[in-house]
Amino acid sequence: KQILICCGTGCRANGSMKVVEALNEAAREQGADARVIADVKTTGCNGFCENGPIVKILPDNLVYYKVKPADAKEIIEKTVQSGEEIPRLMYKDDTGTRVRSQEENPFYAHQHKVALRHIGRIDPENIEDYLKEGGYEALKRAVSMTSDEIITEVEKSGLRGRGGAGFPAGRKWRTAASYEHFPKYVACNGDEGDPGAFMDRSILEGDPHCVIEGLAIAAVAVGAEEGFFYIRDEYDLAVKHIKKAIQDAEERGIIGESVMGSSHRLKLSVVRGGGAFVCGESTALMASIEGRVGEPRAKYIRSVQRGLWNQPTVLNNVETLANIPVIIQEGGDAFARIGTKNSSGTKVFALVGKVKRTGLVEVPMGTTLRHLIYDIGGGILNNRAFKAVQTGGPSGGCIPESMLDLEVDFDSLAEYGAMMGSGGMIVMDDRSCMVEVARYYTNFLCEESCGKCTPCREGLRRTLEILTDICEGRGREGDIELLERLGHAMQDASLCSLGKTAANPVLTTIQYFREEYEAHIREKR
Ligand code: SF4
Repeated sequence: KQILICCGTGCRANGSMKVVEALNEAAREQGADARVIADVKTTGCNGFCENGPIVKILPDNLVYYKVKPADAKEIIEKTVQSGEEIPRLMYKDDTGTRVRSQEENPFYAHQHKVALRHIGRIDPENIEDYLKEGGYEALKRAVSMTSDEIITEVEKSGLRGRGGAGFPAGRKWRTAASYEHFPKYVACNGDEGDPGAFMDRSILEGDPHCVIEGLAIAAVAVGAEEGFFYIRDEYDLAVKHIKKAIQDAEERGIIGESVMGSSHRLKLSVVRGGGAFVCGESTALMASIEGRVGEPRAKYIRSVQRGLWNQPTVLNNVETLANIPVIIQEGGDAFARIGTKNSSGTKVFALVGKVKRTGLVEVPMGTTLRHLIYDIGGGILNNRAFKAVQTGGPSGGCIPESMLDLEVDFDSLAEYGAMMGSGGMIVMDDRSCMVEVARYYTNFLCEESCGKCTPCREGLRRTLEILTDICEGRGREGDIELLERLGHAMQDASLCSLGKTAANPVLTTIQYFREEYEAHIREKR
């Protein structure tokens, strides 16, 4: 039998490494060689972190939640050796029935995993596990294809950047490939900074080889020989796993002086993030990799033409790259059949806030908010009323109940003033004050604004002052209109996307919850 234990950051915080020790110890007590009893394997994040540590027993396909070291002996004796279930460790579905497998758990049953396909099944620190799942086969195929053939598959897939902007990945690669300026670079943006978001962290921690494979395919396609992983400084485990995976891939001859035995070369390295939210912006990220202050620059020349060290550079986010091996292996057309016409594939969301089931979920583009929040998330905590869902990180928008049937994709969210962003999804119940929500995000962005351009720096400060006044009973007639004017000025005149989108929380809460602003101003304390 095999025991898989979730050891992502969330489950580690819940003591999963102690559970690993206890299971190994309990198995040892049963036999001279623990592996005769059970092969205990650590995996990446299963996404259902609040119910961790999660322990899966194969081939029984039995899953236990909130496992403690004290449960280890019973798991080995009863389940592993005698095939007996331990009901108290099984998940209770909405009807109160204890479920055995992940597939029967409503949190997982509605998901469609592409980017997260290996996570929770493989040991991220063991390259053999990845190879057994068909890992690096896509890279092998890519080195036998021409640059045009690879890029054509990515274009056909319709894959759009998962970091927030939704720019077509194939078009970016085509542009980079068209420049005859060498050296070229590829880079992976792992500087995830949105409050509540942990999609990229989980992929980097749980399936590092898949992101390396995606980045290596990008390098082969555009003719780059050097690549960087820019990973948020706080993501220790992700940095550790990516470094180990790069080393293992080099030792195997998968990357390095030759990519899979071809004439392509690829050197990959890891750069730890500069510790600022704005370093996730493409030009700031590149400045930071070069060792300069992570500040954005005007993009009159795009970074795909003049990026790292003024050379052509492809920058893709972690989740975007995790989809690439699937596109090369299964074809762009197959990928394009998932999701919606203009937003193909799946999207990973960090579903958090006032829902019964929180965690990491992957669903096809076009899934409705209602399905995400009620079927996967189980509805609102304590059966309270739904108020709003905030999508797209701090610069995202707040969507009201009347739009719960909105099919989520890049374009539908943008149409309503929100955005996909990197996939943060924070659910609020009827007790949330939407003016306070706008103030919270504005405060975050005000602290994170780099201050380089006036519209963002001063616009955010003024916006925060006005919101604070309204929240604290000093609101005045005309404040709402002033907030709108400031918001539009930031959208029009800010230098980078942080400032251009910073007004979204204020503008969408005014648009959909104006009466709350008016009530605050009317009912001065
Ligand atoms: Fe800096 Fe904001 Fe201007 Fe971007 S928009 S450059 S974060 S001040």
